Amino acid sequence: MTSFSIHGVSVCGGIAIGHAHLVSNALLEVVHYQLPQHLIENEVKRFSDAVATVKVDLEHINASLRKNVPAEISAFIGTHLMMLADKSLSEVPKEIIRNEQCNAEWAVKLQMDDIVEQFEQIEDDYLRERKQDVIQVVERIIKVLLGHQSQLALEQQFSASHEERKLILVAHDISPADAIQFKQHQFAAFITDVGGVTSHTAILARSLNVPSIVALQRARDLINDGELIIVDGHVGVVVVSPSQEVLAEYRLRQEQWELEQQKLQLIKSTKAVTIDGTAIELHANIEVPEDVAAVEASGATGVGLYRTEFLFMNRRDMPNEDEQFVAYKAVAKAMKGAAVTIRTLDLGADKHMNPDTVVNCLNPALGLRAIRLCLAEPHIFMTQLRALLRASHYGNIKILVPMLCTLSELRQVKTMLERAKSSLRKENIPFDEHIALGGMIEIPAAAINAEAFANELDFLSIGTNDLIQYTLAIDRTDDSVAHLYNPLHPSVLKLIAMTIKAGAKLGKSVSVCGEMAGDAKFTRLLIGMGLRHLSMHPSHILSVKQQVLHSQISHLSQHARKVLGLSDLEKIEPLVAKFNQGG
Ligand code: PEP
Ligand code: MG
Repeated sequence: MTSFSIHGVSVCGGIAIGHAHLVSNALLEVVHYQLPQHLIENEVKRFSDAVATVKVDLEHINASLRKNVPAEISAFIGTHLMMLADKSLSEVPKEIIRNEQCNAEWAVKLQMDDIVEQFEQIEDDYLRERKQDVIQVVERIIKVLLGHQSQLALEQQFSASHEERKLILVAHDISPADAIQFKQHQFAAFITDVGGVTSHTAILARSLNVPSIVALQRARDLINDGELIIVDGHVGVVVVSPSQEVLAEYRLRQEQWELEQQKLQLIKSTKAVTIDGTAIELHANIEVPEDVAAVEASGATGVGLYRTEFLFMNRRDMPNEDEQFVAYKAVAKAMKGAAVTIRTLDLGADKHMNPDTVVNCLNPALGLRAIRLCLAEPHIFMTQLRALLRASHYGNIKILVPMLCTLSELRQVKTMLERAKSSLRKENIPFDEHIALGGMIEIPAAAINAEAFANELDFLSIGTNDLIQYTLAIDRTDDSVAHLYNPLHPSVLKLIAMTIKAGAKLGKSVSVCGEMAGDAKFTRLLIGMGLRHLSMHPSHILSVKQQVLHSQISHLSQHARKVLGLSDLEKIEPLVAKFNQGG
């Protein structure tokens, strides 16, 4: 096998060596062909064998699911096993093979289309949507028929050594809803053909804290299932079928990287204070309550952004007030009085509950997203506000509102929050009467008008991922323009500076919770610009803290002033690089 490398855009550093696990859209690969009579029974057997393999695979997944995975996920697997056992999927395709004299893939796909059509006639929303389960089960059968190895086969094949057991996820594209499910898998790395560095899929990949690369263009086509690959997350390169020499070199680099990570652990309990004594608050971003363990392990002193929309994904019903209350309370209690900033629902754009809820619109990032969606669906928002307030009795919860653009949106939020509070008072349900309300500054209009927002809010949090997307008119999920996405663009820096100034003027805390906060390349600049509060993935806390410990505020502010005085990105980049080297 000849070795070759593919270049993409790094999302998370580190080096992983392991075998490719291809996530395919098998349905697109199905072709139709006729078979001579004497091969028909062979084809029927091929189909039965594939069904048997999928059954073993699903049972294996079911048995290996961790105890703490959401009930929804184990229920999914149970449903899939039931569907697989149903005659309509396990027997009818055999009749089709015999009657139509066609290949097994085609037969099962024909039968799937038929079942899906029947599901679409059902009036009950919930039952109608089970068609997705049928499609997923059929995809599994087709994958086996097409010769893709099953998860179990891969694990068994690579059980020789520790390194060889490692699996690297290779996909064309992954939705944030799919990516959240990978949190329970032990993938050693994560690579995709498409995607921008701050897409929500990339953010989730980063939260898995494994080397990740996006925008590899044709990785899924070029890499075979089970092939040995190296993922170098530092530079965004994938080496396929490496030679022994290259493998040895990367093993060495991997050891060095792991050693550096271990060294960073030494500062885990050190307070994040600059040389001249200024404390910098380093908080963590989380997606699900289980992430709190990583927050504790990272030494973060609070949760600066809890993206609640992930509680709403991969399911067909909205989580009710009690379910949300349980999740928010769990985080509040686990953080033992430390700040827990919970962001209200930010669905829309690239984040959807499930494939059926994707709304077709030309510019989803500019559409009905986040607070706009919540204000358009007040019952959903009210349920969440009540759950948040109830949980606030058990810890130090702050509410953060995404995508604010106008003061009138903020006032509607406040009216609804008051209504939620008064309904709880009437029911004698305790909550924190003084719960802090903050707003995300992630639309340029909000940054320009930050003073007005600071006046009516308790705190501001800058969402640089969206602020950059909207300021530079660059879709954060589109890899074809990823090279233009730059946090150091002078206009972005000016909007951040305006927000910091507004907060300082009105005595309101300002933090950054976008990906920029977790990139140690920007720490000195952000502190120099006046930020004292950063929130990032737990895995980035220590590298950012290391920067803080070596910084001197007086020096940083002077330097940041120089950077802000420039209006040419080509001059800003080298100046920031020099600044980071202590220049
Ligand atoms: C941001 O936009 O920077 C942010 C933190 O929110 P999200 O990435 O979830 O859109
Ligand atoms: Mg955002």
